[in-house]
Amino acid sequence: MDLYDTIIHELEKAPGVTLFIHKSPDGDALGSALALSMALESQAKDTFIYCWDEVPYFYRFLPQWERITKVRREGDVSFYPISVGIDSSDLGRLPFLWKRPPGLVINIDHHPTNARWGDLNLVEPQASATGEIIFRLLERWGLPLTLDMATCLYTAIFTDTGGYRFANTTALSLLYGSRLVKMGVSPYHVATHVYESYSPGRMHLLGLTLSTLVLSCEGRLAWVVVTRAMMGETDTGPEDTEEFVNFPKSIKGVEVALLFRETDSGVKVSLRSKGRVDVAVIASSLGGGGHKAAAGCDLSCSTVEAVERVVPLVEGALACSTCSTDS
Ligand code: 5GP
Ligand code: MN
Repeated sequence: MDLYDTIIHELEKAPGVTLFIHKSPDGDALGSALALSMALESQAKDTFIYCWDEVPYFYRFLPQWERITKVRREGDVSFYPISVGIDSSDLGRLPFLWKRPPGLVINIDHHPTNARWGDLNLVEPQASATGEIIFRLLERWGLPLTLDMATCLYTAIFTDTGGYRFANTTALSLLYGSRLVKMGVSPYHVATHVYESYSPGRMHLLGLTLSTLVLSCEGRLAWVVVTRAMMGETDTGPEDTEEFVNFPKSIKGVEVALLFRETDSGVKVSLRSKGRVDVAVIASSLGGGGHKAAAGCDLSCSTVEAVERVVPLVEGALACSTCSTDS
């Protein structure tokens, strides 16, 4: 009996399951949680899905997205005997868990920096997305996938691989995508909603953001900054900056790209690498985490201070002799 069987055995016994997804939810967290929730409901189990933030507007095509409840106060959360954290590497990603949930806590994730914070930790860093792990779990359980569940799982894998572009794209993630499409998922439908349904304000914000571009390390490091004033001016929210870090990354010769986004309490830093530098190590050293090629952290300081703190760390990792001298 392996971990998959153990988790299935536990889920089968439970009358209901509480699901948690990380703050600033992405397509993987949302799609994985919704697919698992629908599977559990098909087995006559009640589920709650909780998140710190609202579902970004361009993910509101996901079947049953309205069932995801935004939680800001302790009393807002109801617990079933089993809680499952999804795509969440540490408890800092689940700020509404002021205390440990009662009952069994299961942690399903694919981040190498996962803190193994559950009683059962199904953590597979080689998986392209948590959606891949959920797919395997449901398959092992022998539950038939509905088109809605398949759409959620396809969105999870498709978005976490950047539309099957990033370094985590594998034969298996493509095979799962193919199998989900065979079940009826429309790749065009998903791609249109995820990547072609933005607000005009987002485009204006992108313009302002790109005008902040700075390069250093002989063009091997690039970063951009998003301030709250810029978001106010363009009537946009934090979700509108998703994917922005891929623009500095798309410059030829850039090995690491950074996005500094001003938040209510400080700065959210997104780090991306084309492979030579492990940005999860840098993000972890700053209290965050993630993957080798995509990581992030929250800093309690100004954007200027955040740039001054993070840029030298990346320059050190790039071991660049002309750091900070060019722009
Ligand atoms: P993003 O930059 O798109 O927000 O996140 C990139 C990756 O880093 C994702 O896999 C995300 O889960 C992880 N990540 C982002 N911010 C944090 C953070 O503050 N803490 C941890 N542990 N991981 C983060
Ligand atoms: Mn993920």
